[in-house]
Amino acid sequence: MKSLVILGGGESGVGAAILGKTKGFNVFLSDSGNIPERYRTQLDEEGIEWEQGGHTMDRILTADEVVKSPGIPPTAPVVQEIVAKGIPVISEIELAGRYTDARMVCITGSNGKTTTTLLTYHILKDAGVNVGLAGNVGRSLALQVAREHHDVYVIELSSFQLENMYDFHANIAVMLNITPDHLDRYEYEMQNYINAKFRILNNLTPCDAFIYWQDDPVIKRQLERISTDATRFPFAEHKEEETCAWVDEEEMLNVETSRQKLRMPRAELSLNGLHNLYNSMAAALSACILDIDKENIRQALSDFEGVEHRLEPAGTVNGVRYINDSKATNVNSTWYALESMPRDTVLILGGKDKGNDYNEILPLVKEKVKAVICMGKDNTKLLDFFTAHVPAIYDTHSIDEAVETAARITTAGDTVLLSPCCASFDLFKSYEDRGRQFKERVARLK
Ligand code: ADP
Repeated sequence: MKSLVILGGGESGVGAAILGKTKGFNVFLSDSGNIPERYRTQLDEEGIEWEQGGHTMDRILTADEVVKSPGIPPTAPVVQEIVAKGIPVISEIELAGRYTDARMVCITGSNGKTTTTLLTYHILKDAGVNVGLAGNVGRSLALQVAREHHDVYVIELSSFQLENMYDFHANIAVMLNITPDHLDRYEYEMQNYINAKFRILNNLTPCDAFIYWQDDPVIKRQLERISTDATRFPFAEHKEEETCAWVDEEEMLNVETSRQKLRMPRAELSLNGLHNLYNSMAAALSACILDIDKENIRQALSDFEGVEHRLEPAGTVNGVRYINDSKATNVNSTWYALESMPRDTVLILGGKDKGNDYNEILPLVKEKVKAVICMGKDNTKLLDFFTAHVPAIYDTHSIDEAVETAARITTAGDTVLLSPCCASFDLFKSYEDRGRQFKERVARLK
């Protein structure tokens, strides 16, 4: 019996363990931290051996293959030892891909993955496709492959997941954009991060599709260096020769493949903002390639309810609109949020700075922001940067203080945007916690 070791007892690790067991491996799961109780119960019910709070190396090094959870960096000593012994390390998605012949729609990019994944899933589900949702969002792919049957999977793939994928084969690969993110994991080398993202193209054949943002300078440059056999479907705001999705002079969205032609008013898209136009184009192209009826696509693009914490309306109080964009944890995503805002916006930003360069958003801040509310444990960098450029700036250290300040300084017609540019861990448990607390405080203003 072959031995499979799983590193990490989260959603992907436990799913991989169960799939491994189903396929006849001798499975052992090891986590250096604590495994959440629901996963421990699941492992016990399946009769899978596990350990937490450390790694028994003697046992781990007897593995024929190791599945590593995406959160564990390749530099972790346990991984280094495994690699030094010549044991192959794969990802949960790689393992799952071996045991299904479902069509795989894989979505990656620095920003917009979750939105595009959920929108694509919504279109397919509404059209009656037997579709599963997996990857960073949704349930473990491996668990679904072990227990369910789906004809298509829509999978959100981060660069971390792509790192340990080798023979996996996407049928539709979507690359939304590439901007600097997670560089700490890539030895501060942007090219390493780009290479990880481009692994999504591995093993694509001419029957497979590559959907990408045509105007992204990083994607453009990389495509000049590498080749892919996949059929290309670029999208852009304005049409060029090759473009398959674009907006025309009449403000109509066009999506064209060799078998489908869809045209609908841009104003009917349920998601607003330029970034969401791109996300909608990518999702619509995937659906067209899967031969979904264009009436279904049009309907689903216009009735999608959006995703929590991504430009989510958080209520209107005294004529002031509050918007929760707590998921904006880097400068580029805040750029797109501001791009879709009107003038007279009050911007709440701050948190754990990941080495941000705020120059990128400065022109939009100057054009649209009437006040900046800094919300973090230490706001020095933000105060130093923005004070000279905005009519008013405030130094706050809690969500209560930030929302109270926003309510005090706004008048009817203004917009308050929480789009922090930063991670949340200085004051909150997670970006979800930050977004929920924001919505609660806004509700209390009513
Ligand atoms: P991801 O899953 O890649 O982190 P999300 O869909 O969760 O992306 O969106 C995160 C943030 O990025 C949102 O708050 C939004 O402001 C911004 N965003 C969404 N789509 C795009 C895009 N296509 N390009 C740039 N920024 C985007």
